[in-house]
Amino acid sequence: MKSILCVGAGLSGAVIARTLAESGHAVTVLEARDHVAGNCHTERCPETGVLVHVYGPHIFHTDDTEVWDYVNRYEIFRPYRNRVKTTVGGRVYALPINLHTINQFFGTAMGPDEAFAFIEAQADTSIVAPQTFEEQALRFVGRDLYEAFFRGYTVKQWGCAPSALPASILRRLPVRFSYDDNYFFHRFQGMPTTGYTAMVRRILDHPGIEVHLESRFSRDMAGNFDHVFYSGPLDAWYDFDMGRLGYRTLDFERFTHGGDYQGCAVMNYPEVDVPFTRITEHRHFAPWEDHALSVCYREYSRACAPADIPYYPIRLVEEKKLLGAYVERADTEVGVTFVGRLGTYRYLDMDVTIREALDTARTFRIHDARGTRMPAFAVRPI
Ligand SMILES: Cc1cc2nc3c(=O)[nH]c(=O)nc-3n(C[C@H](O)[C@H](O)[C@H](O)COP(=O)(O)OP(=O)(O)OC[C@H]3O[C@@H](n4cnc5c(N)ncnc54)[C@H](O)[C@@H]3O)c2cc1C
Repeated sequence: MKSILCVGAGLSGAVIARTLAESGHAVTVLEARDHVAGNCHTERCPETGVLVHVYGPHIFHTDDTEVWDYVNRYEIFRPYRNRVKTTVGGRVYALPINLHTINQFFGTAMGPDEAFAFIEAQADTSIVAPQTFEEQALRFVGRDLYEAFFRGYTVKQWGCAPSALPASILRRLPVRFSYDDNYFFHRFQGMPTTGYTAMVRRILDHPGIEVHLESRFSRDMAGNFDHVFYSGPLDAWYDFDMGRLGYRTLDFERFTHGGDYQGCAVMNYPEVDVPFTRITEHRHFAPWEDHALSVCYREYSRACAPADIPYYPIRLVEEKKLLGAYVERADTEVGVTFVGRLGTYRYLDMDVTIREALDTARTFRIHDARGTRMPAFAVRPI
């Protein structure tokens, strides 16, 4: 039996803790916040009764059967389809851009083949190998759809011109020539009936796990354990001594409303003169519940300052260079493995986080059995 420390009680820390506790190890979990579940945290608003996604909306979707079975061991998931709307020029359209959006936007009644040919004609075919987000969008959807749906949203979300972002941010063909407006393609999609926090509490509910909330880890604690799984920010491990990895953060302007505010969970506002990117209405993430009042978030994106919550890693050229320097240093560490979205400085969906956490714990078990060294990264950040 080894004494294991998991830093962070988000999905990464919780799944590793549970897997290793089930293997007979003694696991301590330290969480700086006053709740488990990390950024997936959900709590009931005492005023309205609405289950609020405190750090922004989280929809569970996966093609990974083992991960789907895993979350269903700890929670009842209800079917949920993410259907996003967007307001442009005082009109509401369906997202992702699909046949309905195209017909609404251009005032047409085209079928799939006609619409495909129409969009091809709009596309800027002089761009052969798109390098930037802007070129990618112009190449595949043309200027009208780009200006209406992509440009302003991207400027607000990333705080820079789309011509400064890599083409890889935008999928190759960001348009559907059908009326399918289900945001995700994954086979399994759902929402936890009692919320993500209740689910993570159950994952952590094991006699081999001790959870300490409002307990911030510092590096001098590492020596008290045989191994540390660290899901905090990689640069924070080194007290940011080579600089800070860049993130975008989000400000949520919360308001309540009598009844139903917007009739859907997510309404985007891609125009640059609207300062927020979207409004989320949390009652719609649990459509089977009935509430008299509503809780909404206006979401603003900006550069992350030291005291802010890091949300989206920027991962442009400069950040990748700094990440490389931290990774090189981390590779020499013994007794710690950097995990999760902050430990590896990557955007990770929840299902990928769980998959990686399961694999990381299994890798540890193999090294433990063989007496070999557990690496600093079970998944390479670059
Ligand atoms: C706005 C937004 C929306 C998202 N929506 C979706 C979605 O719809 N679907 C989806 O699949 N995924 C979504 N995600 C991704 C999801 O949030 C992540 O997959 C998940 O949170 C990653 O879990 P984690 O445990 O790696 O990190 P986190 O959830 O960030 O957990 C890390 C934990 O470590 C703690 N910690 C850090 N440093 C220390 C320290 N020194 N001492 C003690 N504790 C510490 C933190 O307080 C935190 O609780 C979204 C992400 C964002 C930003």
